[in-house]
Amino acid sequence: MGSMGPAAAGKPHAVCLPYPAQGHITPMLNVAKLLHARGFHVTFVNTEYNHARLVRSRGAAAVAGLPGFRFSTIPDGLPPSDDDDVTQDIPALCKSTTETCLGPFRELLARLNDPATGHPAVTCVISDVVIGFSMKAANELDLPYVQLWTASAISYLGYRHYRLLIGRGLAPLKDAEQLTNGYLDTPVEDVPGLRSMRLRDFPSFIRTTDPDEYMVHYVLRETERTAGASAVILNSFDELEGEAVQAMEALGLPKVYTLGPLPLLAHKEPPSPRSAINLSLWKEQDECLQWLDGREPGSVVYVNFGSITVMTSAQMVEFAWGLAQSGKQFMWIVRRDLVKGDAAVLPEEFLAETAGRGLMASWCPQQQVLDHPAVGAFLTHSGWNSALESLCGGVPVISWPFFADQQTNCRYQCNEWGVGMEINSNVRRDAVARLITEIMEGEKGKSMRKRAQEWKESAVNAAMPGGSSHRNFDELVRDVLLPKN
Ligand code: UDP
Repeated sequence: MGSMGPAAAGKPHAVCLPYPAQGHITPMLNVAKLLHARGFHVTFVNTEYNHARLVRSRGAAAVAGLPGFRFSTIPDGLPPSDDDDVTQDIPALCKSTTETCLGPFRELLARLNDPATGHPAVTCVISDVVIGFSMKAANELDLPYVQLWTASAISYLGYRHYRLLIGRGLAPLKDAEQLTNGYLDTPVEDVPGLRSMRLRDFPSFIRTTDPDEYMVHYVLRETERTAGASAVILNSFDELEGEAVQAMEALGLPKVYTLGPLPLLAHKEPPSPRSAINLSLWKEQDECLQWLDGREPGSVVYVNFGSITVMTSAQMVEFAWGLAQSGKQFMWIVRRDLVKGDAAVLPEEFLAETAGRGLMASWCPQQQVLDHPAVGAFLTHSGWNSALESLCGGVPVISWPFFADQQTNCRYQCNEWGVGMEINSNVRRDAVARLITEIMEGEKGKSMRKRAQEWKESAVNAAMPGGSSHRNFDELVRDVLLPKN
């Protein structure tokens, strides 16, 4: 592969290992781009499954890499699936990566360190928190090992405080009835770093009657393991989550560097071929932006439940008729696998009734959509990337949290940050229509929009030179990631 030039030999080399789901890949890619812009050689590690998807949806060039920015793969340990273009089963993926990926990752590091490759030797590893198996491989090579928590600081605390819920006897649930009889509304007082929490606001895996629930023990192990990292990176900013960040550090974590919103920080860099690297697992339909171009400012409801959420076809029909009843224009992104175990097909009558004022698509460039002046509100599942992207766009939300951290994000959007209204999990068309009218026309909508605009300003300031996230990135590179001589 050629001999290593003197320039390459002296370069720091960061290996970036995301958890293999869209909401984790995107923020890791932004970290990788920032490091590349600082002169790091970068190896970005996808799973073979996602690599093949990217080649299919975006073409081989998408993962061909650039000088100093290489892609590599490891297997994810799951058996081949019948449908190779859908979101994988998350608990199964957590289990398989934990149990099978250390060996391939260790071998990858050894290969990258082979001088015959022409790459500089690996000098640091950046890994997602939830695949902390990588810590062992980094420690064996005595490398700085930084973990990226791709969700909110509040949700990290929510997971860590599962122990507190278990200790107080609030979880696991006594029986399945507690899911529906109001028990989840129980207030949970004195949760370090979190405000006004109810049981239902903790990440959803704790809603189980099984004391051995895999996901509960998995997230506890992975989040507790963070204490052994050299540093933690967060896709958040101090003004939004400073209190929770301090509470994270108080749990014995290494220094936590808020670098968010990562899209803003990464896009501060001058445009370069690197800017064009896009690891969206679905192909965006650019006509979404053209459609928005023709609409009045603030007139469109944007509906998107992210990359993992699934719903029943009855729930999809309720959302559809709610949108129809609201009378508003809307853009609804319906993933092919949005309806569990079934094709996502909407009623003909709904399509006929909303023709001309509704655009349906299967994937869009979300940040650009949220930045578009035509978008007045976002009906979302409150995944953390979506939550931050809506703040960056200054757009208020109606939240229908599905699972994991989304419950906690939704609570803060509605109760603390003043930018959201929650929709009942048992969604009904009347409620959808009522909330849309309120957010698009009502006083509450107006004040939420104002708050969202204010958060947008804080987010922009955090990512500007002199801002907290910008400064933290400099410090992270200087104090943790650059090799010490
Ligand atoms: N996304 C996108 N286009 C879509 C849907 C989603 O680009 O049509 C992106 C979105 O901008 C976000 C990510 O996919 O960056 C979803 O991450 P999030 O944390 O919001 O939710 P998850 O998919 O993990 O549930």
